[in-house]
Amino acid sequence: MSIFLATFVLGLGFIFGSFINALVYRFKYNSVKKNITKLSIVNGRSICPNCKHQLVALDLIPLLSWIYLRGKCRYCHKSISIQYPLVELITALLFLFSFIYWKNGFNLLGYFQLGIWLVILTLLITLTVYDIRWKILPSKIIYIIYPLVILNNLIVVFSSRNYSLILGYLLGFIILGGIFYLLFQVSFGKWIGGGDVRLGFLLGLLVGGPLNSILLLFIGSIVGTFLSIPFILIGKLKKKSTIPFGPFLVIGAIIVYFFGAQIINWYKSRLY
Ligand SMILES: [Zn+2]
Repeated sequence: MSIFLATFVLGLGFIFGSFINALVYRFKYNSVKKNITKLSIVNGRSICPNCKHQLVALDLIPLLSWIYLRGKCRYCHKSISIQYPLVELITALLFLFSFIYWKNGFNLLGYFQLGIWLVILTLLITLTVYDIRWKILPSKIIYIIYPLVILNNLIVVFSSRNYSLILGYLLGFIILGGIFYLLFQVSFGKWIGGGDVRLGFLLGLLVGGPLNSILLLFIGSIVGTFLSIPFILIGKLKKKSTIPFGPFLVIGAIIVYFFGAQIINWYKSRLY
């Protein structure tokens, strides 16, 4: 593995992380003020959310600008949320992680698949940040991910010529989505939201197979429980407050996507 490529992927992660921050902000802004000057997601210039001052290149260097400006806007000196550098850092680290643990090889097709995965990953992080920030999973973003996941799966099926995988992907889709659909129906949408159901179908399709789907749910629940404990302890989470479940599902999906087979094999070897 080349250090040069790893650094490149890390840098790419910082840039995509910065894109995610812009996307989360602009997507919300556009959905609130539907008909007033739409903020273009791709072309629009970045502005300070507080004073609306246009930002220059020096303000937009991922992570470094935030550190250099000590977390304050250069123009109005209002604090810039820790969300921005944090999302950039986490995205960059997940990009690097994906590169290090990439399982589909580094030929031309492997790189193409890695590219697709990094876009899927970017959109999944966008969903996560959006869910934490605004407590909703926008269907538009979920539906954009579907064709990417299907393309990714088709490449896996046809390059391995293992056509039984198709059945596995369909089962993952039905099982994980089905479980969430049932939970949604039984609780009349109180335990989980409709967005979680749509995300469940998508992530089932991504990881594929009944075992992977159950493992995803299991890991997601454990991570969710552990991350909630500190908030419950400091009394910030009351029994009634809703916890966004999307982020935990996404964490579970990333772990299963990379290590699902290993974890299941390890578990089986302990059983027999
Ligand atoms: Zn400002």
